[in-house]
Amino acid sequence: MINASLKQLAAALAEKRISAVELATLFLDRIERLNPALNAFITIDREKTLAQARAVDVSGKLGAGDTAQRSLLAGIPLAHKDIFCTEGWRTTCGSKMLANFVSPYDAHVVEKLAAAGMVTLGKLNMDEFAMGSSNETSYFGAVKNPWDRARVPGGSSGGSAAAIAARLAPAVTGTDTGGSIRQPAALCGLTGLKPTYGVVSRYGMIAFASSLDQAGPMAKSAEDCALLLTAMAGFDSRDSTSLERPAEDYSRELEKPLSGLKIGLPKEFFGEGMEPDVRAAVDAALAEYRKLGATTVEVSLPNSALSVPAYYVIAPAEASSNLSRFDGVRYGYRAPEYSDLADMYSKTRAQGFGAEVKRRILIGSYVLSHGYYDAYYLQAQKIRRLIAADFSAAFGECDVIMGPTAPSVAFAFGAKSADPVQMYLSDIYTISTNLAGLPGMSLPCGFGQGGLPVGLQIIGRWFDEARMLNAAHQYQRVTDWHTRLPEGVQ
Ligand code: GLN
Repeated sequence: MINASLKQLAAALAEKRISAVELATLFLDRIERLNPALNAFITIDREKTLAQARAVDVSGKLGAGDTAQRSLLAGIPLAHKDIFCTEGWRTTCGSKMLANFVSPYDAHVVEKLAAAGMVTLGKLNMDEFAMGSSNETSYFGAVKNPWDRARVPGGSSGGSAAAIAARLAPAVTGTDTGGSIRQPAALCGLTGLKPTYGVVSRYGMIAFASSLDQAGPMAKSAEDCALLLTAMAGFDSRDSTSLERPAEDYSRELEKPLSGLKIGLPKEFFGEGMEPDVRAAVDAALAEYRKLGATTVEVSLPNSALSVPAYYVIAPAEASSNLSRFDGVRYGYRAPEYSDLADMYSKTRAQGFGAEVKRRILIGSYVLSHGYYDAYYLQAQKIRRLIAADFSAAFGECDVIMGPTAPSVAFAFGAKSADPVQMYLSDIYTISTNLAGLPGMSLPCGFGQGGLPVGLQIIGRWFDEARMLNAAHQYQRVTDWHTRLPEGVQ
């Protein structure tokens, strides 16, 4: 059961080989047994989960008959990154600031997946306010990589990635502002997808950098991600950047052969910086794609070296504004002792936020301040434009772009935490996608140093998720990297 695809789980539920309650119990028991060593979950609530599963069992949402009415995902458990507001559950965003916050409403994503009958297993650990690439900034402690517990799972959706890798959940949600779905997916050996900006509503998703944040699915395979994305996507008037487009079935192109697919390989992604073991696995994956009938062509993204510096102006600028709402007045943490209102604000924020969040707020306030706005913020916005234009030009020559997801396999705890710039470079291949608003995904393509997973990144044209998923699925039909389990996970 733990290795079953979502389709296989759906069949087992429909044929009454297992009930939603039994399936939820199976995963809850695994969480109880394996989570203490991994710290992937911040909150679990057996009663709530089982009540939701019971409701699905009796609702008639399951059952072989009436397939038109039945959601394929009904009765399948999933866990949410703790950035999504979930009514009645704690939503901490990995921060002391929200350690006791219980949301009075559901995020759009949570609402949609619950409407499809999916059962919430719990809330997943993450870097504080989704700022990080290693999950070491969480107030609730670091998450361990199930492939090697001395190493990071990646971030900021590290709890999400570890939960899939250790089979604590068959599906999870994540968010990706600069790589937080794809990089942990790569480091933990799973498949994750960041949709085109605006495809999934940000309503109820705690804001980090609003013009970059996008939610997406993480699971064992592209086939599973396609099903989840179909359920998550959709217009929502409560998010002003949500796009009003016809509903899509993201599974519709999965089975298309790849003959004729043109893969662009940006020369900037294959230069210095990528570790040799990552390079070997990515090269082997590209050879596999050629066998499947695809052709490769070199393309160029000349401004990609500027993506990390531009991102670390734009993302902190937006974060400094978004995080001003955490002031101890309306919700979340409030300093227990203070002299007056200004002192209350300052003590609350000094005590409630961790070091990385404070660093971003300081950088963001600085680049937005009078006198520096033109030099930094405006300049970064111009670079953002150039990066999007680079992609437009590259897509004139290819259908999808491929390359590494991350420059190295999972690194050891502490290896980069003393040097923020080193940490920021973990997202060197993923950040440009967010700046351009493009869809991107990561899928396992082999193992590198220490037997640790390597991720292949696929970047699609705007709204070309179905084709990206097609390319990923066809590869997963002829390879088995995505089915491998870390030692000790059973
Ligand atoms: N690692 C990047 C950062 O720290 C991206 C985070 C994310 O995508 N949420 O900002």
